[in-house]
Amino acid sequence: MKPKVDSSNRENGGTGSSLPNSSLPSNFIRNIIIEDLKQNKNDGRVHTRFPPEPNGYLHIGHAKSICLNFGLAAELGGLCNLRFDDTNPSKEDIEYVDSIMDSVHWLGFDWGDRLFYASDYFDRLYDFAVQLIKKGKAYVCDLSAAEIRQYRGTLTEPGRNSPYRERTAEENLDLFERMRNGESEEGARVLRAKIDMSSGNLNMRDPVIYRIIKASHHRTGDKWCIYPMYDFAHGLSDSLEGITHSICTLEFEDHRPLYDWFLDELQVFHPQQIEFARLNLTYTVMSKRKLLKLVEDGHVKGWDDPRMPTLVGLRRRGYTPQSIRTFCERIGVAKRDSIVDMALLEHCVREDLNLRAPRVMAVLRPLKVVIESYPEDRVEELDAVNNPEDSGMGSRKVPFSRVLYIEREDFMENPPKKFFRLAPGREVRLRYGYYIKCVDVVKDEKTGEPIELRCTHDPETRGGWSPDGRKVQATLHWVSAPHALPAEVRLYDRLLSKADPSEDKEVDFRSLLNPDSLEALNSCKVEPSLAGAAPGSSYQFERLGYFCVDPDSSGDRLVFNRTVSLRDTWAKIMKAGK
Ligand code: ATP
Ligand code: MG
Repeated sequence: MKPKVDSSNRENGGTGSSLPNSSLPSNFIRNIIIEDLKQNKNDGRVHTRFPPEPNGYLHIGHAKSICLNFGLAAELGGLCNLRFDDTNPSKEDIEYVDSIMDSVHWLGFDWGDRLFYASDYFDRLYDFAVQLIKKGKAYVCDLSAAEIRQYRGTLTEPGRNSPYRERTAEENLDLFERMRNGESEEGARVLRAKIDMSSGNLNMRDPVIYRIIKASHHRTGDKWCIYPMYDFAHGLSDSLEGITHSICTLEFEDHRPLYDWFLDELQVFHPQQIEFARLNLTYTVMSKRKLLKLVEDGHVKGWDDPRMPTLVGLRRRGYTPQSIRTFCERIGVAKRDSIVDMALLEHCVREDLNLRAPRVMAVLRPLKVVIESYPEDRVEELDAVNNPEDSGMGSRKVPFSRVLYIEREDFMENPPKKFFRLAPGREVRLRYGYYIKCVDVVKDEKTGEPIELRCTHDPETRGGWSPDGRKVQATLHWVSAPHALPAEVRLYDRLLSKADPSEDKEVDFRSLLNPDSLEALNSCKVEPSLAGAAPGSSYQFERLGYFCVDPDSSGDRLVFNRTVSLRDTWAKIMKAGK
């Protein structure tokens, strides 16, 4: 599978003088809007919307849609609404509404005073339905859901007319009102558009536009017991809000004739629906339904589990809003479905954190080192650079003493040829510290595992350089044992063990869960400057990767999530491709 990257030229699309210059990559939707602006369509207005259903938390696929809708509006001098498509009370919850608003803000976008709900329009949508009935373009149908399906026909067979299709407008008006008044049971009847049961497009075979749901709505309470279907509510909500470009994902392409039909029949303002390919990412799933299952079945700890592709999960993992926006820009906007390599997302967060994250030293799997030549009671404060990419971030002091921890994997008793780190008799550099040489290894009597290294140091090498210019092959990170803070570090790996989980439709994605997606290390040691680090703050642990303080941290016990390691597989992929 080939990762898709939009390498399209970064020209600024407009020749019209009113169009702002921009460094945003061009894409076909942007080009359509720019063309419309040139023609002065919609009186030169650009108005988009992001329309989530409040039935789950947002995921990174939604971020693509948010960046596109809010981004285009901002760039082209338009407006973007946030509208909750809350037409199914049985699956919706205020918890989701709140988290969605929070995530959109976190990503860096703002809807100003344009927060809307499809439920705000229930009265007007009802009136629209009544208009259709009066025009003879909608009827109340008493077929059951199963019967409606049977009557609908297939792709190769036309459907059959419902026996209720020829009810008079008067009868339909009366029945529809009774539906509204709660006189029928759920599933007993529906309101359908009267279009064409032999249409080649199944969506046009008298689709249901209202159904009975006897559930309380999180905003309208028990005022309604009939609710509009998505296709009916969506386009008309767009129209009521004066949306000019209704951008949605590809699966709605077949619904566009229906979208247009409602607007044309009702002779209301007509937004243009434009479809683009939804984002898919390797090694994860991107559907709220599936994500909800992972939460409900306890495969993850919640919607904000750092393994989840949700925005709250990515945030907890240490992803920055900027890195996600950059990612959305780089993947571009296409008309054909594809699956994007997770390595690109990781590349984007690395790139961003490289610039912002302070460097610190932390040892994940500690191995004790005693420097025999260093006085017992001595402590030196060594100068350490906070970020070599940004001198403005300054430096800090790191304590050095006789007893230290280094990473267990930085020592081998019998090193193979290419292992350049510490080994018996070998000299290495301690970052910002001294050259040390291993002179003895203390082992666990039972297991034979090294539990302590005895070393000497060269006092002439303070700061990490020797006056005689002799070279060492490795620089190790370390922390001073008496000064170190204890920490838990959670290492994450891919959620699924298969790159494209939907390749085989027969396979339940849950059987593809990676059993090693979380490894919690409980005896880590971090440098004392991290005391009191605030949840959400990001650091580079030198030589290891980027880590973010988890909200599970408490005063004396820090918990970190590994956002991403330092190894950039995306850069490698790009290099190999050249
Ligand atoms: P899911 O399939 O995950 O449940 P959805 O499409 O039902 O998603 P909505 O709340 O309806 O979720 O989505 C709000 C907006 O986000 C819609 O315009 C939808 O097209 C868009 N969107 C959803 N998933 C993706 C995705 N993977 N890539 C791009 N846009 C998406
Ligand atoms: Mg949807």
